[in-house]
Amino acid sequence: MKAPQVTRTVPALRRIVDAYRRRGDTIALVPTMGALHRGHLALIRIARKRARRVVVSIFVNPTQFAPNEDFASYPRRFTADLAALEAEKIDVVWAPSAAVMYPEGFATRIEPAGAAQAGLEDKFRPHFFGGVATVVCKLFTQAAPDFALFGEKDYQQLRVITQMAKDLDLPVKIVGVPTVREKDGLALSSRNAYLSAEERAAAPVLYRVLKASAARIKQGDAVELVLDDGRNEIIRTGFALDYLEARHALTLEPIASRDEVPIRLLVAAKIGKTRLIDNVAV
Ligand code: AMP
Repeated sequence: MKAPQVTRTVPALRRIVDAYRRRGDTIALVPTMGALHRGHLALIRIARKRARRVVVSIFVNPTQFAPNEDFASYPRRFTADLAALEAEKIDVVWAPSAAVMYPEGFATRIEPAGAAQAGLEDKFRPHFFGGVATVVCKLFTQAAPDFALFGEKDYQQLRVITQMAKDLDLPVKIVGVPTVREKDGLALSSRNAYLSAEERAAAPVLYRVLKASAARIKQGDAVELVLDDGRNEIIRTGFALDYLEARHALTLEPIASRDEVPIRLLVAAKIGKTRLIDNVAV
C-alpha cells in the first residue's frame, strides 16, 4: 500500500497538482472535515472512478461554525483518518492549518444567495454557507480539481456549491453522492459520535419519518398534513425540531403543490446536544 502524500502548505500542494496536470492526469477532490466514516469513503471511491488522481482535504473550517457551535469539540482523528486513506489508495491528503487557509489579513468572503437563503440550514446557522462557500472556493483554487465530490447528506450545501461553481465559471464538475446510512437508516455523520446510547436508539426516527412522508406525498396525501404528522412524531421521540420541510429539489424554494417536482424532504433536529440533518427525494 502506498501512503498518500500529506501536504500542509499551498506551494507544496500546487507543485504536486501542477505535476499531475503536466502529465495529463485528471484530479478529483473530496473535501472533508476528517473523522472519516463510510460516507466519506463512498465519496472517495467514486472520486477514484472519475479521475486518475484523488486529493482528500481534511480541514475543520472555523469560519463555518458560530461561536456557540461545536468547533472546539468537533472530532479530530488525523492518525486514524490517514490509516483509512492509505487503504483507499488516494494520492494526496491536503491538510492545511487554519493559519495557512486564513493567513493574517485575510479579508475576502463569498456570500452565496439563492439556495443558500432558502430558510433551512441558513436560518439556524447564518454563518454556515458563507464559510463553506469561501473555503470550498479556496479548495478548488488550491487543488485545481476536474471533479469535486459532495454528499447528498448535506443537500443544501450540495445545491449551494453546485450553484457557486456555475455562477463563478469554476472549471470543476460537482458530483453528488447518495447518503450512506447505518442499517437502521441513520445517516452516517461524524457528529453521531456525540450521541448517548439512548439518543442513538432514538435517532433513526428522522429517516423513518422522511421515508414515510415521501411515500404518503407520492400517494397523494396533502403535503402540509403529512409534514405536520412527521413533525409531531419527531418531537414525540424527544427531538427539538428545527425544520421538516418539502422543497423544490433544485431551487430549494417552498412548493405550492405536490405537482412541483422534483421534491426533496429535508429535516434538521437536535437531540440532547447533537444536531442531526437528513433528507430524501420524494
Ligand atoms: P464532513 O466531513 O461532514 O464535512 O463531510 C464531508 C463530505 O462528506 C460532505 O460532502 C458530506 O456531504 C459528505 N458526507 C458526510 N456524511 C455522509 C454520508 N452519510 N453519506 C454520504 N456523504 C456524506
